[in-house]
Amino acid sequence: MAHGILLIENKNENLFLRKRPADFDFKKWRKGDITALILKMRRIMHAANGVGLSANQIGLDFRMFVAEVPDSQGGTKFYAVFNPKIEKASDNKISFEEGCLSIPETWGEVDRPEKIVVSGFDKNGKPVKIKTWGFLARVFQHEIDHLDGKLFIDRTKKIYKVEPQPKKQSQQKKS
Ligand SMILES: [Zn+2]
Repeated sequence: MAHGILLIENKNENLFLRKRPADFDFKKWRKGDITALILKMRRIMHAANGVGLSANQIGLDFRMFVAEVPDSQGGTKFYAVFNPKIEKASDNKISFEEGCLSIPETWGEVDRPEKIVVSGFDKNGKPVKIKTWGFLARVFQHEIDHLDGKLFIDRTKKIYKVEPQPKKQSQQKKS
């Protein structure tokens, strides 16, 4: 398992990825440990060229994910969301290619709502509500699926395998 990320081709890792993790319990964590957790997940996500990573993808049994996507100013915006829940989803769905760090060299077109509103908690345990659309909404939904034990290959009829290729295009979309 490269970078410590669980893969579905391993039987036990697949079983873990298919299980819904427990809620994140803020009472059991010290602030500094939560900060360290977020940094660790961000580091693993970067090392794997991903745009999102859920805690259960690295073997942790709780509902939390990180995501980092380009913003309109040419930088990136980073998110760490605990116990996320989709509050609202647009009727309008769009189809887009997805890949997953737990499913190497595999891609598929997935229909998902274009806009969603996600509720959850930030690293201090403070409730947050995030309105997302476009690519960020896509990444959030992919990660929340992970936290329900679901993978994008369950949602697509069009799956294709590709050889590892130079980063850039497809590598950037993995979460
Ligand atoms: Zn994934």
